[in-house]
Amino acid sequence: MHWNRRNALHRLLLGAMSVAPGMSMGAPPAAAADPALPRALPVPGGIARIPLGAHAQRPLAHAGEVPLLVIGSPADWTALVGIPLAAKAGRAALRVKTDGPEREVPYTIAAKAYAQQKLQVAPRTVDLSAQDLARHERERVHQQQVMAVFSSPMPNAEALGMQAPVAGPRSSSFGLRRVFNGQPRQPHSGMDIAAPTGTPITAPLPGRVLDTGDYFFNGGTVWLDHGGGLLTLYCHLSAIDVKSGDTLRTGDRLGAVGATGRVTGPHLHWGVLLNRTMVDPALFLPA
Ligand code: ZN
Repeated sequence: MHWNRRNALHRLLLGAMSVAPGMSMGAPPAAAADPALPRALPVPGGIARIPLGAHAQRPLAHAGEVPLLVIGSPADWTALVGIPLAAKAGRAALRVKTDGPEREVPYTIAAKAYAQQKLQVAPRTVDLSAQDLARHERERVHQQQVMAVFSSPMPNAEALGMQAPVAGPRSSSFGLRRVFNGQPRQPHSGMDIAAPTGTPITAPLPGRVLDTGDYFFNGGTVWLDHGGGLLTLYCHLSAIDVKSGDTLRTGDRLGAVGATGRVTGPHLHWGVLLNRTMVDPALFLPA
């Protein structure tokens, strides 16, 4: 099982630079027609939208060494920059290559203060045994490989509005500084949607299944690749109905809500990754 998963991922990584044969992205959903999505919110955990102007070819843009998603059309291109929760407020810059020499494009990250949240969970998921720590370390390395995938942007990547993957009350807990059983841990890097175990989870946008597995913290997990470094993550699943390489249209079922991994109860943890950075999924949903 483990070997198969690694092997499948390896094939995906090798093939990640082009859209796979037979990969149909389908028609965009109604929400995707809104060119304002994702919304700009240039704060830690948010997204900067950087206008790049008109060019015949899609410009290449990077933050450090990490490639950025550039959306739009030859009439008007826009770079999307996912800003890490750990970023400092102030001046930042990306590198852009269009027709001429590479240039630096500055932008400003505004400050945002996130509140603290205290949670009680199973003690073995906070004070890890040596065995669980070793398992988590292997899984962390694997997850970093998944998060580094950058495939071709979707042909219709002009607007990237998403459909919520589960109907249910959405928490606004993205970015909260978390204290588990009295111990500070990483901030919350996704959106929690409360729903009973077994509730179907559907793809928010066309994409390809990049990875599935059962991980220590995330429990039953699915990663989708939407092209251009835009990935989505589904955690704590009770059932996984897809396998690596499957292509999904908006609304296709990928699994079911559960309470696996480190949780306080059944819910979907939904993550959205841009340029290897977890950003607030709410920015992709219609207001
Ligand atoms: Zn969560």
